Parts: sequence; C-alpha cells; structure tokens
Amino acid sequence: MSKFLSKKYINLAPYTPGEQPKNRKYVKLNTNESPFSPSKKALSLAKKALKTLNLYCDPEFTNLKKVASIEFNVGEENLIFSNGSDEVLNYAFMAYCDDKTPAVFADITYGFYKVFAEVNNVPYETVPLKEDFSLDIKSLCEKKGTLFIANPNAPTGIALTLDEIEKILKSRKSRMVIIDEAYIDFGGESAVSLIDKYDNLLVTQTFSKSRQMAGARLGIGFANSKVIDDLNRIRYSLNPYNVNATTQALGIGSLQDKKYFEKTKTEIIENREYLTNQLKSLGFTLTNSKANFVFAKTDKISGKDLYLSLKERGVLVRYFDKPRISDYNRITVGNKQEINKLLIEIKDILENIK
Ligand code: PMP
Repeated sequence: MSKFLSKKYINLAPYTPGEQPKNRKYVKLNTNESPFSPSKKALSLAKKALKTLNLYCDPEFTNLKKVASIEFNVGEENLIFSNGSDEVLNYAFMAYCDDKTPAVFADITYGFYKVFAEVNNVPYETVPLKEDFSLDIKSLCEKKGTLFIANPNAPTGIALTLDEIEKILKSRKSRMVIIDEAYIDFGGESAVSLIDKYDNLLVTQTFSKSRQMAGARLGIGFANSKVIDDLNRIRYSLNPYNVNATTQALGIGSLQDKKYFEKTKTEIIENREYLTNQLKSLGFTLTNSKANFVFAKTDKISGKDLYLSLKERGVLVRYFDKPRISDYNRITVGNKQEINKLLIEIKDILENIK
C-alpha cells in the first residue's frame, strides 16, 4: 500500500477469487466455470466483430438487447448488460444502499456482497442461514434494508422456490430485492417472470456459467424500466462502454444457439447427479445443490486436508476457511473425465488415511 492511498480504502479487504495457479496443469473444479468451449455460433459472430474494433462498442447494446428480449420474453427496456454480473450487482449496491438503507444478505453467501458494501462505504447486516443452510426467510423479511439473495445460493447450491421469492418481495414493498441468479439455469426457478409484477425486484444473471463465457465477462440485469434507468444512471457515470464489442457479439451468438445451451446445461445437471451419488457412496454428506457445483463433507477427513491432498494430486476444489462451512469443499461439476479423476483421487486419499 502506498502512502497516497485514501483513508477510505485502507481497511478494505478485497474479494479473493478462486486460485488460478500456473505452476502445473490442474483439473480445475474450483471456480464454477463450464468445462465446455463457447458456442461455435458465438465464436463466429465474435470473429466478425473483431473487424470493427477500431470503433467504440454500442453503449445501448441495441442488437444484444433485441435478441435477449426475445429469448427471455421481456421488453428491451427491462434489460441492462454488464461486465460480468458482478458489475450489475455493484451498481445495485451503489443505487439502492446508503447510510439509512443497509445491504442485507445471508451470513453464508457470495463473498463479493460484503466487499461491494465495503468499497461503496454502505452499512451491511447478515442474517444467519438456518442449521441446514436454508435461508431464514422470516428473519430476512423482518430486516429493513436492501436484500441481496443468491438463488441458488453459493456455496451451498440450495435454491428458493418462486413462492418463497414472492413472499420476500411482498414482505416490504418499499425496499429493493436483488435476486442473483448466477446459477439459475442448472435447476432453479427464475424470478425474471416476476419483474412486471414487482417494481422492487432486480434479477441478475451471468453468461459465465451455463453459457461458457466466464472469460468474456457478460452479465445481465432484468427489472422494470425505472430500475433499469437507475442502473444506467450509474453505468453512464462510470463506463458507458462497459461491455466490449466482441463480448456483445458473443452474447448474441450464445443466446441464438439454444441447442448448445440446452445440451451443455443438461449434461452438467446429469453430471451433478452422478457426482452427488458417487460422493454419497463414498460416505459424503451433500447439500441439495441446484447449481453447477456440489458442496460436500465427510467425517473421514477435514475439509482443509481434503482440499490440500487433492491439490497435491492435481485437482483444484474450493475450500472456505470460514466458520460453519470449514468442513466442506465446493466442487465444480466438470465433464465426466474430470469427475472420474476427482473420484479416483478422493478414493485413494480416503484409503490412505492412517
Ligand atoms: N453471483 C454469484 C453467486 C457468483 O458465484 C458469481 C461468480 N463468482 C457471480 C455472481 C459473478 O459472476 P460473473 O461476474 O462472472 O458474472
């Protein structure tokens, strides 16, 4: 830290992304990326877009908005795009939280919420998940601030039903509720269908997981047009060119390539069930994940030791050294080959425990 850094950032603890070590080739099951390559249609549109990179990209997302509005069955005025969904989530912290309106989220959830609150200097409160890691809806509804809810939650993968989400939205119509649907395509019920009914709802999704584009950075926000205007006020004050031309083209291609989206999504869901059953047969306990990862623990080895042993053997999973979840590992659902390598190593580790 230099002596010039503003006082307001001295105590800021930045988000720690999943490790990306370059020292050897790992089976990477730690950052919930897709094991599949991007859609061919998306790649071919991106290639065309490269030819006009001398021009600024479209800050209005005209073509991307058209395609997304058809695909998601919402108006074009109900959409905003961002540099990964992290960016639109940050806009929401900026737009809907302040000294009088704290951000409220679960104690165990996406780690970036706390960082967004801190970097924007807004207060936040956490609501403990219940013993079984389900969301304590009653306690959450009693809070006054802006709610941030990952559905399915991370790192547990546990999903809310639409009825539960409506209950939350109705509990206090004067406050904003942000539903972060980064993992919704793997089995959850999306709240996008509710944006016309509730003016206090913002839904965010990402192209990073179910659309194979984590490296391209494309997020999407769905809400009534007034909320979208709020978010654009912030976007145009930070960076109107927040989604580059290549990524906009990739997004269009990905949305148009429905077959590939369905095929890859289905395979991940099948692989998740396979991985879940195999881990159960090895004595693991798992949450009911509706995401592209599982959250698993066993009495035979600590979460940390399993993570370290797997890493030594070339398999990366995500371990959180945090209260309540330090027995667990979050394991991304990869392709069959990756899963089988993981299982072979886990079996061997368990068999060699002294
Ligand atoms: N929400 C949740 C719950 C996530 O796990 C992630 C991925 N780390 C994101 C949002 C952000 O993803 P991205 O910025 O790649 O869209």
